[in-house]
Amino acid sequence: MRVVDLRSDTLTCPTPAMSRAMAEADVGDDVFGEDPTINRLEALAADRLGKEAALFVASGTMGNLVSLLAHCGRGEEIILGSLSHTFFFEQGGSAAVGGIHPRTVPNQPDGTLPLPEIEAAIRVDNVHFPQTRLIVLENTHNLCSGYPLDIDYMRAVGDIARCHDLKIHVDGARFFNAAVALGVAPDKLAAEADSISFCLSKGLAAPVGSVVCGRLDFIAGAHRARKVVGGGMRQAGVLAAAGIVALSEMVERLADDHANARKLAQGLAEMPGLSVDLSQIKTNIVFFELTRADMPLDQLIKMLDDEGVRMLTVGDGRIRAVTHYHITAEDIDYTLGVFSRMLK
Ligand SMILES: *Cc1c(COP(=O)(O)O)cnc(C)c1O
Repeated sequence: MRVVDLRSDTLTCPTPAMSRAMAEADVGDDVFGEDPTINRLEALAADRLGKEAALFVASGTMGNLVSLLAHCGRGEEIILGSLSHTFFFEQGGSAAVGGIHPRTVPNQPDGTLPLPEIEAAIRVDNVHFPQTRLIVLENTHNLCSGYPLDIDYMRAVGDIARCHDLKIHVDGARFFNAAVALGVAPDKLAAEADSISFCLSKGLAAPVGSVVCGRLDFIAGAHRARKVVGGGMRQAGVLAAAGIVALSEMVERLADDHANARKLAQGLAEMPGLSVDLSQIKTNIVFFELTRADMPLDQLIKMLDDEGVRMLTVGDGRIRAVTHYHITAEDIDYTLGVFSRMLK
């Protein structure tokens, strides 16, 4: 049976070029700074994002955590989206580990935080208040259908941050999806970010890892934070080798994932009993809703699974499908065929 696994782009497996690179990687002890492959990946990532330096970390969650720890002291406040991954899906790690206080602002459907609401959330100097340090943005925005934040928005938030002496961290787990969808160079899109983390292990198909980029002094702080959360790795050049292939060979093809997501969304939008907001579909994530009262969500997911089509529910009544390296246009045709039979 054909299996079309649309649960996440984290399901991507290493490409043949990655497997070769991993097998042949030059390695050393990265805690001593002596893994040449990690050093090469970090230099490449910093260059792509136009930053001074970079740090290889185990995951996107670790990338965000060490970034927040590097920017903020205990009791200091961050402004972040109410639907952000960092607020929702990272176990409140920055509060648990760093004593960092989260202040949420409602995310708009396009993943932005309204500028006036960011301004209003910034604390004035008053002994009662925590001190605001950081604005956290997410690009693309996972729970907002993978919507990309564009350069104009980034500049507007940058202006606010400069005006109030705040830093900006970008959770760019799918940052290259944003750059490809917007047709802008990653370093231009990252220009306003004091720090940015991106995942190698999502659409870029590497098996493990994320990279954090920023200024040298920030990276020095993130490096210390990585050690204390247990993220110092030794001959992890075997992982970085796949990351180098990911950055070199897997970025441009993200456009295929975006085309497949659009094709899927357009097909689903025509089905009776499903609701999709097509204006939301800009990258590789499709959220949609089942509007038929006679079919519980769990039953739909089970029926799909029986036909080899896998999707996730995210707990708010929506279904999520994510396109990636292993999903072809034919897989999308097959998926739409399954839906039309099921919903008949
Ligand atoms: C996946 C994801 C992360 C976390 O990455 P992990 O590698 O799973 O820890 C962070 N932010 C966003 C927006 C994500 O989608």
